[in-house]
Amino acid sequence: MLRSGFFIFPVHEPTLCRELIRDTQPSLVKVWASVTSEPQLRDWRALSPNTIFLLVDGDIGDSDTKHHLNDIPTLVRDHSAQWARWRDRGYGNLWMAYNEPPIWYGAEYRKRFTDYTARALEAAHGYGLNLCIFNFSVSWPWAVIDAENWWPEFSPAVTAMQPSGHGGAVPSGDYLGLHEYWGSRGPLDLAALPWLVGKHKLCPYNVPILISECGIDLAVEGKAHQGWAAAMEPGAYYQQLRQYHAMLDPRVKGTAIFLMDYEGREWETFDIRPLARDGLFKGEWDMADPMPVPARVRLPFDGTPSPKPVGFGMVTQWYGENAEYYSQFGVAGHNGVDFGIVTGTPLRAVAVGRVTRVQQLSDGYGWNAIVNHGWGQTIYAHLSRIDVTPQQDVAAGQVLGLSGNTGNSTGPHLHFGMRVYGQNVPAMNDWIDPAVMLGLKDAPEDDVDEATKTEIRNTVWNQMGIAYNPDAALAKFAKAKGLGAPKDGERRLVVNGKAYIVQPYDGGIAAVPEGKWDAVEAVSWN
Ligand SMILES: [Zn+2]
Repeated sequence: MLRSGFFIFPVHEPTLCRELIRDTQPSLVKVWASVTSEPQLRDWRALSPNTIFLLVDGDIGDSDTKHHLNDIPTLVRDHSAQWARWRDRGYGNLWMAYNEPPIWYGAEYRKRFTDYTARALEAAHGYGLNLCIFNFSVSWPWAVIDAENWWPEFSPAVTAMQPSGHGGAVPSGDYLGLHEYWGSRGPLDLAALPWLVGKHKLCPYNVPILISECGIDLAVEGKAHQGWAAAMEPGAYYQQLRQYHAMLDPRVKGTAIFLMDYEGREWETFDIRPLARDGLFKGEWDMADPMPVPARVRLPFDGTPSPKPVGFGMVTQWYGENAEYYSQFGVAGHNGVDFGIVTGTPLRAVAVGRVTRVQQLSDGYGWNAIVNHGWGQTIYAHLSRIDVTPQQDVAAGQVLGLSGNTGNSTGPHLHFGMRVYGQNVPAMNDWIDPAVMLGLKDAPEDDVDEATKTEIRNTVWNQMGIAYNPDAALAKFAKAKGLGAPKDGERRLVVNGKAYIVQPYDGGIAAVPEGKWDAVEAVSWN
């Protein structure tokens, strides 16, 4: 399991840097090779062996000019040779390929950039290296990836990525690097990052992501850095970071909170030591493995929704209805389900989770709470009372507050919404239809054709680092277990109603539960 971490690089305070790495064991530290000595890095790695040291250097870290991509073959050759040299000197196993590409230079530039990235990945793999590619800014005003659908242009590069293997403290495989700064979107939008990332137009699903920079930074083009602490006092900053981490998309495998000093200015105004001393970067940062999405959750209130036209709990507005009305809010329709319930009805968490946001708005959702369940989020809106606070853990069925009629509401009701990681619906601001999971509607007929199912299996299988191929899995497993040479052919066996693909070997039988290609099991002959 990877832990989310943060980047600490007070260049002029090596002792502090060492302390922080030792005490916090971050998942990710971004290293400028030009200012980090080899002994220093060795020391850090010894202190925190599971930390990924993401190396950025020279051309790779400074891609602000167009001419860099004029001679792609030469550039790829030089970069990959450079990475191999760093590797041989003991630096980490992840490199930033072409940091912060100026993608706003236009389509022609982006095409060359994509070409470069795909070739750089190939070259790196040839050296036994993996890359963290892109490091796009999600929302710098002058990059505005979020506002443009540039993503398809980059997909050839992503296709060249080596899928990351699961398991292991330090992952193998390539990563998509993204970064986000607070100052560019307003002070409180950090927690929105996973959802920005999750939209198709930013990056595809099933790609592991490192948020390779994340923090408050008021720097904009043409202006001096004002110091990230200028925007917020440390306690509030930390609170936001906790909230951000509680909402992380499971594809995010690590986060580097960017604390780099620009000529020491940030460190003059903000001292991270008390936060580290209080353990504020420990524990809380542990990231769980992605949680499975449940087939059903409980209703957000007690009782049974009555049928139309009237009655307690009846659905007054389904998901997707009233597209015209909701266009003013930038969504393609009603992005949740409304239940007609009297003000003061206790509202309950539909599943175990952690409260990540509580708001008391006079418009929109009114008083509302968001719970993160690990597999997604739920929102309970238009409340009259809220009984929970951010970061509070809640059990399934625990009362969050009382229903009401606050915000943009024409009568007492509950607006209930649900997001599920990996199922984002961009046109609905990523909210999905919760009706099936709430048991209000039957699951739609399975109309997925075989080709699509194979494609899905392929994707899942690829995530595990190998093309979908039971034979390959069995062979890999047999090798790891020393089962010897295969005997006879592979076959499909049904045992207790469960299908396995099995392959006899000299030393035993390897079996893969069909469709669960990561769960190879050995069955001894004896
Ligand atoms: Zn609603």
